[in-house]
Amino acid sequence: MRVMVATSNPGKLKEFQEALSSLNWELLPLGGLPMPAETGSTYEENAALKAATIAMMSGLPALADDSGLEVAGLKGEPGIYSARYGNRSSDQERNLYLLERARNLTNRSAKFVSVLVLAYPDGELEEYRGEVTGKLLEGPRGQGGFGYDPLFELADGRTMAELSTEEKRQVSHRGAAFAKLLQAHKGGRPVSAPRHDRG
Ligand code: IMP
Repeated sequence: MRVMVATSNPGKLKEFQEALSSLNWELLPLGGLPMPAETGSTYEENAALKAATIAMMSGLPALADDSGLEVAGLKGEPGIYSARYGNRSSDQERNLYLLERARNLTNRSAKFVSVLVLAYPDGELEEYRGEVTGKLLEGPRGQGGFGYDPLFELADGRTMAELSTEEKRQVSHRGAAFAKLLQAHKGGRPVSAPRHDRG
């Protein structure tokens, strides 16, 4: 199957190609197609918007993702706004902003969420949600990963930034979402597409 990857980020295209290498799919870059604005109010809506738009424009199935960090004591912030939290323009600035917002916060439970949507030109959608729970630290620890990784401590006491790429793939929200997609497509396109897989 030829599948468009609905992202303008070349790093993400490569990540998708690696994660889905066991499927017999040819993952194709956008090739100049414009990405829609992320105007949804959930990860599912934003991922579906991106995937469905590119599927419609290209006439091929399209895969998109949307992800974020949710801190319980901040009512789920930054959530779908993770990439542009506080209008800060770098990971480091967003991390500082989050630490400031979370100063004196007692409930520091947090989770990373990732949603993958595969859209078909006929309008069919498949959704795969992955999550990993942990807690927000009061300062960064670890040199790996990206984004909020150094602030997110897993149940085993390590931060996401202290994991190797392979370890992160195994425990992360994104890894969990990819595992569900792989499972569903082991034998080709699912007979009945799981529209609302939020497990
Ligand atoms: P998007 O899914 O590309 O819109 O990005 C969501 C944002 O959530 C990223 O820019 C990061 O700030 C944050 N995020 C998502 N996944 C991770 C992760 O695995 N580690 C750290 N931050 C993440």
